[in-house]
Amino acid sequence: MESCVFCRIARGEIPAEVVYEDAGNLVFRDIKPAAPVHLLAIPRRHVARLADCSGKDADLLAALFLAVNRAAAAEKLRDFRLIVNNGAGAGQTVFHLHAHILAGGNMSEKLL
Ligand code: AMP
Ligand code: ZN
Repeated sequence: MESCVFCRIARGEIPAEVVYEDAGNLVFRDIKPAAPVHLLAIPRRHVARLADCSGKDADLLAALFLAVNRAAAAEKLRDFRLIVNNGAGAGQTVFHLHAHILAGGNMSEKLL
């Protein structure tokens, strides 16, 4: 996707503070952190949102979750919260699948 901001980060056209990357995924710091540690994990391949994924994307989704684990290990995070906003009504503003990794501070308050 030519103009997608996260595709552009994945192509190296927009700078980002990358903390982990592999062949299929990138994990970088959110530009507007909502927690002491706030990372975004994305697949390099453009997928607009989680609900667009089907069985054929199972490998992509599994690899994204493993990239989350590896980024958390690289950042020495033992406890973290993972959030995926799916659709504008859920607060999604960038339409390239991403998982927010939040950690640090008092994360023990439960949302659910
Ligand atoms: P969402 O609201 O779930 O779509 O999350 C999008 C996130 O992307 C927000 O937390 C933004 O702060 C973050 N974001 C947008 N542009 C950039 C960028 N260029 N670099 C890093 N994070 C970004
Ligand atoms: Zn994209």
